[in-house]
Amino acid sequence: MDGSSKKEIWIFVQHDDGEISEVSLELLGKGREMADELGYKLAATLIGHDVKDLARPLIEHGADTVYLAQDASLATYRTLPYARTICDLARSMNPEIFLFGATPVGRDLAPRVASSLRCGLTADCTDLRIGDYTSPVKKKRYENLLLQIRPAFGGNIIATIVNPETRPQMATVREGVMVMRKREPGRKGNIVETPARTEASDLAVEIMERRTGSRTINLRKAKVIVSGGVGVGSKENFDLVFQLADALGGTVGASRSAVDSGFIGKEHQVGQTGTTVRPKLYIACGISGAVQHRAGMSESMKIIAINSDPEAPIFGVAHYGIVGNLHEVIPKLIKSYKERTRIQNGK
Ligand SMILES: Cc1cc2nc3c(=O)[nH]c(=O)nc-3n(C[C@H](O)[C@H](O)[C@H](O)COP(=O)(O)OP(=O)(O)OC[C@H]3O[C@@H](n4cnc5c(N)ncnc54)[C@H](O)[C@@H]3O)c2cc1C
Repeated sequence: MDGSSKKEIWIFVQHDDGEISEVSLELLGKGREMADELGYKLAATLIGHDVKDLARPLIEHGADTVYLAQDASLATYRTLPYARTICDLARSMNPEIFLFGATPVGRDLAPRVASSLRCGLTADCTDLRIGDYTSPVKKKRYENLLLQIRPAFGGNIIATIVNPETRPQMATVREGVMVMRKREPGRKGNIVETPARTEASDLAVEIMERRTGSRTINLRKAKVIVSGGVGVGSKENFDLVFQLADALGGTVGASRSAVDSGFIGKEHQVGQTGTTVRPKLYIACGISGAVQHRAGMSESMKIIAINSDPEAPIFGVAHYGIVGNLHEVIPKLIKSYKERTRIQNGK
């Protein structure tokens, strides 16, 4: 076994009510791919109380090792006890790469861990790759670094960020951008129980009550999304977008400008500062296709754009483009889709 095969990529596992978050499974998929490329091991850090049952699914989703720390003080996420437990473990194992989901928990925990371990952190990555880098200042070449890719300067450029010197190389990654690996039942791996390191001073925050709100829509799981932009014209006109989504059994999305204009709620926003989606079908109605919007939907399997401006950038990522007024095009689409469904059903 050469030295490199002992190096590890770590994924922080977020879970709630006994369920592993999707972003953690997506990161296991990406981590597995990178670990295979580098000849490293993939480890999942599972922290909580009474969570051992979650270890096996993590192995079946690609982890070679699950580091399991359990204690009653870790039952609900709190920054300090989680950070101390993770930092102590990371100091003893020296992972090469450590990834977190860019969720509220990940965004709270990862910076604290990075600061404590004195290493860099790139927030909100939309892609990760392995590659080399030559520092023009130090005139030194670094091999097999984690290339941390994310939109920068208001989304106008896509930046690639590296941490050549410090370890672990840390990043938070947006939900929905990595592809979840298919579960492999019976896959073998190790569960390594590790102590929780909570100290009395870490328990300053006491959780009195926990309330969970229900998500009204789930854009990331939608197979069909019909999104509206400023071109829809008003909150009332958005009814047309809802009608098309209803006809196709889809979910309604929106551009940020449509949300800012008060046409629809923020939970519908697709894009860099909204949700990243990759449905089977994405229909963009009256959306210009700014880079920040495209960042959240360009990986959709089929994209149809309806826009009155033939020069709109959305046509650059669309598989099918309809140049026209959406108020005329959408009713025709609904009518012909219903007509076709009726014929197919033999009515
Ligand atoms: C840091 C940052 C983060 C951002 N994050 C996001 C994000 O997450 N998501 C996002 O969407 N944006 C985001 N934006 C905003 C983004 O830059 C654009 O401003 C926004 O996407 C534009 O929305 P839009 O396409 O609806 O509006 P517009 O750009 O105004 O486009 C409206 C389009 O409608 C067309 N149109 C008008 N009337 C009709 C009609 N009757 N029929 C057909 N077409 C018609 C027009 O030709 C035009 O192309 C962000 C910006 C910044 C700086």
